[in-house]
Amino acid sequence: MEPPKAIDLVIDARYIVPVEPPGTLVDHALVVDGGRIVALAPSTSIAGAYAPRSRVALPTHVLIPGLVNAHTHAAMVLMRGIADDLPLRTWLEEHIWPCEGRHVSPEFVADGTLHAAVEMLKGGITCASDMYFYPDAAAHAYETAGIRALIGMPVFDFPTPYASDADGYLAKGFAARDAFKHSPRLAFALAPHAPYTVGDDTWRKIVMYARQLDLPIHTHVAETRAEVDDARAASGESPVLRLDRLGATGPSFIGVHAVHVDAADIETLATQQCSVVHCPVSNMKLASGVAPVAALMKRGINVALGTDGAASNNRLDLFAEMRAASLLAKVATLDAAALPAAAALRMATLAGAIALGLDQQIGTLAAGKQADVVAVDLSDIDALPMYDPVSHLVHAVGRDKVSDVWIGGARVVDAHRVTSVDEAIIMTRARAWQQRLQ
Ligand SMILES: [Zn+2]
Repeated sequence: MEPPKAIDLVIDARYIVPVEPPGTLVDHALVVDGGRIVALAPSTSIAGAYAPRSRVALPTHVLIPGLVNAHTHAAMVLMRGIADDLPLRTWLEEHIWPCEGRHVSPEFVADGTLHAAVEMLKGGITCASDMYFYPDAAAHAYETAGIRALIGMPVFDFPTPYASDADGYLAKGFAARDAFKHSPRLAFALAPHAPYTVGDDTWRKIVMYARQLDLPIHTHVAETRAEVDDARAASGESPVLRLDRLGATGPSFIGVHAVHVDAADIETLATQQCSVVHCPVSNMKLASGVAPVAALMKRGINVALGTDGAASNNRLDLFAEMRAASLLAKVATLDAAALPAAAALRMATLAGAIALGLDQQIGTLAAGKQADVVAVDLSDIDALPMYDPVSHLVHAVGRDKVSDVWIGGARVVDAHRVTSVDEAIIMTRARAWQQRLQ
């Protein structure tokens, strides 16, 4: 008989929800070695097979894959609550862009991104797709926090304090990518802000770079009725069909929002195997509309979940997004079977990983994948009785129940406390930014 195999870590849990295959394992253990998942096995079988250097017992918890926030502007957390109750255009043009013009700097992005990373980690988010200025400062912050990220290299066709023209944005983005290309938890995407802020010539350039360098394109698209009406008035095309004509669509196209898409747009997104990121809370708060998530998914489009920035949410909370997405899909279709809890959890995990091109690495709890694992404590009164842990994750409990988080096998949240950075310092910095911005 073989002696027990020495490995790094065993996490025993009351429930494990791997996401794929669907279903819930009871009294199982996750076996981790070298940062990767080795096996999922009944806890009673571990002793004979493995000799773990560390073993963690979570008898009242459910283990799920780390949540993937497929669209955010992390540093905007420093503008949380600065301008509420406004539609997108007024919010952007009269409040957010002027505030950014005055305050956004490498220091702002470094502090804001680290703050957001800690908030996300404590809420079970282990990977974020970011789009903001100074991606080098953001990359450094994500690396410091120990969180995984797809860093968007932002592009606009108008000047900001960060860059003066499209070539300037691209050059700075590529410099950031070069500086962090060896970071194991970071990847980079081209992040043109939107069809309405980036012209055709720049889009063509972005498409060329995306193909040459095999980079995803991460952009907002069809967020508001006005955006689509203006686009049709200008060129006769919807934003989705325009991006398709310019060659931007494809399996590594990450289209955020897709609220105002018609049948032709949906057919194009499906045929090109694009991913869509649904941001239900941001769409509701800015009164942008309701994305036709059920129709997108019915056509086979991969739909992930995002928080958007904390300035339009105002949380970086995928538990809240899962619940909002499920409820919004039901009320929008008058179909109580639209977006069940398991589908919402899949959107927040595997679908996010697929959108970001990381599904070989993360998104499910499966042997061979990175050990990005979240433990949710279901011992409180609000989680009883317990018939179905997946239902509770989406409809009954929130991010405050996240007790422990591992990324690549490293415990980055331990009993609700982030281990990688000093949260008190980050909170002091946030108070200082509040003084400067108000
Ligand atoms: Zn956004």
